Amino acid sequence: MNGLETHNTNLCIVGSGPAAHTAAIYAARAELNPLLFEGWMANDIAPGGQLTTTTDVENFPGFPDGILGADLTDNFRRQSERFGAKIFTETVTKVDFSSKPFKLFTDSRAVIADAVILATGAVAKRLTFPGSGEGTGGFWNRGISACAVCDGAAPIFRGKPLAVIGGGDSAMEEASFLTKYGSKVSIIHRRDAFRASKIMQQRVFANPKIDVVWNSTVVEAYGDGERGGVLGGLKVKNVVTGDVEDLRVSGLFFAIGHEPATRFLGGAVELDSDGYVVTKAGTTETSVAGVFAAGDVQDKKYRQAVTAAGTG
Ligand code: FAD
Ligand code: NDP
Repeated sequence: MNGLETHNTNLCIVGSGPAAHTAAIYAARAELNPLLFEGWMANDIAPGGQLTTTTDVENFPGFPDGILGADLTDNFRRQSERFGAKIFTETVTKVDFSSKPFKLFTDSRAVIADAVILATGAVAKRLTFPGSGEGTGGFWNRGISACAVCDGAAPIFRGKPLAVIGGGDSAMEEASFLTKYGSKVSIIHRRDAFRASKIMQQRVFANPKIDVVWNSTVVEAYGDGERGGVLGGLKVKNVVTGDVEDLRVSGLFFAIGHEPATRFLGGAVELDSDGYVVTKAGTTETSVAGVFAAGDVQDKKYRQAVTAAGTG
């Protein structure tokens, strides 16, 4: 097809996280000979998905001592291969689901598939300011995170003041969750009102361990002098007055939304207003019969490895 190497398959799986590999393991064991495209730095994430960007995963059953995210995804991949899934380290850039069989394209291959599973995940949005990044002078993964449920219980956050940025349901949920571990939690929000649902807001306002820093943005993160290398505090700017104040915290959690990896679909299946694939309640069926979606690409509520694996 147009000089591309062409493959025919019963099932093409797109993605590389727990959802894609669970789907591959089940499909391979059912002798469907699935082809899986794990992507090459798709959305700037290595093959293996979001778990490759974290250290210890402590809430995936079966690993009582925890397991490194990268090791867990290696295990997923090896298990898929063991049962015969064929894996290509290429990103699917285009699809055509207008008629059956379906067509999917990478830069070098075309796939003609009877069924498709979309498991391309999502990426937590991050903010960029001095001290927010990785490497020297940055506190990403050393106090700054984009997943409170994943990282909140880490020892560096226990009994310490923490902060959350955002004003949606995620920010409310993460702040409430973090009060289990932190001494107090400050929600830093850029406006003077939350967009979160009323009930989630009420829970936050009723929680004595949470305060809100309204009309404010973080302009810098700096280290803790005593515990060098980890986050010690933030410079927070009031966008109304222009004043910049210190907020001493040991943890900062971005809760400013996620971006599902659905652009490459070009509208081939129905998406919701946030870009997530719409699935029929209680199923993985999309708006196109024969195209299924699993994991974070269709789930903006749970967003965990075990739930992604479950839908896969
Ligand atoms: P993802 O893990 O999102 O993987 C999808 C991958 O598919 C992409 O990353 C990319 O590699 C690939 N891809 C995307 N587009 C294409 C394309 N067009 N073609 C081919 N390939 C493509 N959850 C927990 O349960 N416990 C934890 O401790 C935990 N810690 C976390 C820490 C961090 C920092 C983050 C960001 C998340 C964490 N999570 C944790 C959440 C968990 O990682 C996700 O819920 C889970 O990985 C979602 O799995 P998924 O299969 O939907 O896809
Ligand atoms: P939302 O898009 O709803 O909220 C994002 C928040 O981050 C907004 O308050 C926004 O501010 C703020 N924000 C965005 N960009 C920036 C920025 N650059 N700097 C500072 N702040 C920024 O995302 P959520 O993840 O909270 O929710 C996504 C969806 O998932 C929603 O539909 C939500 O209802 C749902 N959800 C439901 C849950 C539940 O029911 N338990 C739990 C979590 C999510 P502003 O308001 O000014 O735009």
